[in-house]
Amino acid sequence: MQTLTKTDPKLAELRSRLTEIDDINSAAAVLYWDQATYMPAAGSAARGRQLATLRQIAHEKFTDPALGQLLEDLKSQEADLPYDSDEASLIRITRRDYERAVNVPAEFMARVSRHRAESYDAWARARPANDFSIVQPHLEKTLSLSQELASFYPGYEHIADPLIDRADYGLTAASLKTLFAQLRRQLIPIVEAIAAQPGADASCLHQTFAESDQLEFTVQVLNAMGYDFQRGRQDKTLHPFTIGFSIDDVRITTRVKEDSLPEALFSSVHEMGHAFYELGSAKALEATPLAGGVSAGVHESQSRLWENVVARSRPFWRHFYPQIQARFPQQLQSVSPETFYQAINKVERSPIRTDADEVTYNLHIAIRFDLELAMLEGRLAIRDLPDAWNERYRTDLGIVPRNDSEGVLQDVHWYHSYIGGQFQGYTLGNLLSAQFFEAAMKALPDIPNQIEQGNFSPLHQWLQRNIYQHGSKFTPTELIEQVTGSPLSIDPFIRYLQDKYGELYTL
Ligand SMILES: [Zn+2]
Repeated sequence: MQTLTKTDPKLAELRSRLTEIDDINSAAAVLYWDQATYMPAAGSAARGRQLATLRQIAHEKFTDPALGQLLEDLKSQEADLPYDSDEASLIRITRRDYERAVNVPAEFMARVSRHRAESYDAWARARPANDFSIVQPHLEKTLSLSQELASFYPGYEHIADPLIDRADYGLTAASLKTLFAQLRRQLIPIVEAIAAQPGADASCLHQTFAESDQLEFTVQVLNAMGYDFQRGRQDKTLHPFTIGFSIDDVRITTRVKEDSLPEALFSSVHEMGHAFYELGSAKALEATPLAGGVSAGVHESQSRLWENVVARSRPFWRHFYPQIQARFPQQLQSVSPETFYQAINKVERSPIRTDADEVTYNLHIAIRFDLELAMLEGRLAIRDLPDAWNERYRTDLGIVPRNDSEGVLQDVHWYHSYIGGQFQGYTLGNLLSAQFFEAAMKALPDIPNQIEQGNFSPLHQWLQRNIYQHGSKFTPTELIEQVTGSPLSIDPFIRYLQDKYGELYTL
């Protein structure tokens, strides 16, 4: 990259403009991190304004016609460069993002951001009050704004396509419909077979575990798994997230419940997986749109791989069980490793997505995905959404939420963003976690033994080489083919469930 940048003033100018935009976005990210961790509540109005100002400046700089001209001028050079070079990738991906950004009028973005704040506020009141009528008018407006957003992208096949494409580039409503239908067909019988058997006893996880001990234990685990506290840190928050300010500063957050041991532990490991991905971008990609993860689904594959495939596995607990017992001797001394393993992998049909186990989780997502399509297509009116929600929980999970708080009001997404493209990334992440891990196992069959020894670096390095270093250079489709030799598939995930849960239950 160095040599070309030196010899080519246009490419140097592109890089310098993108660095400036990245600096503004990163500064906004620091303000957001502060808001979500330590800021006193009274600071929120001013902080909202400061964030909006910075984002507005970054958006103006990114949609500057001069940047468009620069990208146009660089077209011929791009054609001469190898497709996977940093330079060609930078021009290609920036052009894609630029075209996407200039499609949407600034006036619309301003309307959306005002509406978002009002809608979020209504949701924050509606959920504890268990009152859908508070959000209904807001959600109706969200739906029409989502449809309007789609209209800025002419030529789509399904109205959800532009919304899906923003999160998971290259996927469409049609391809996801097929995927979710296949997945439901395979999952429902597995869930029914498990539900017919006596459930695991998870009471060992629901004693009292002091917050400070839990936090210390998560740090112990994160250190052992290779999270570098020189390039990140962990703080407490309400809804855990990962945020990066540069390739060398990617922070995670966690949430502790004193009556639930899995909460902080698995949420920390989940966010660590996201952080590994961001920390792993090649240094040459710093401060460009190529740094960081390529899509919602691939990002989630890394959090789910470390959280579920690794940290809910037997080899992992052969290594860590003595340590967690030593940390919580009173609570866990008389609990056998097998009881603990069964408890952290308990399968249960529950109304809440974020509490769902690996087996039922994707059924929650399929419901949301189908409802999004129905709303966008105009087949489902917002006023009928709570009933449609409850009906799908009855048919797919065999339970009916007791009220809207544990039903349609449970997730923030529709109340703080668009309707469309909000949820498929979670399922893609689950599917890809298994698909990537299968590929890693093919290359390094000794991974489970290494994990049992507490050695996480062979797996980490394999992911670093094959996925992390590339940042967003390749599309998700290209990356998945490159890493696994096949397109996205539900088969590795179903194999993973059958192996793991076939041993825990009779399937
Ligand atoms: Zn995640």
